[in-house]
Amino acid sequence: MTTPAPRITPAPTCPPDQVGLCAKCHKPTHRYGFGGNPLCPVCREAVLAPQKPKKTMAA
Ligand SMILES: [Zn+2]
Repeated sequence: MTTPAPRITPAPTCPPDQVGLCAKCHKPTHRYGFGGNPLCPVCREAVLAPQKPKKTMAA
């Protein structure tokens, strides 16, 4: 079996003791310490995406 690693991988520069579960998808991510975030990069993007501070000219 030579299947590649799953798509979920903590930041490579993240020490194991700073790994925690994503608050949203509960997958391992760099959660604690410097640069840590309760959300994994995927969820972070998902959360930030709709909040793009784009100026809407509409109404
Ligand atoms: Zn997540």
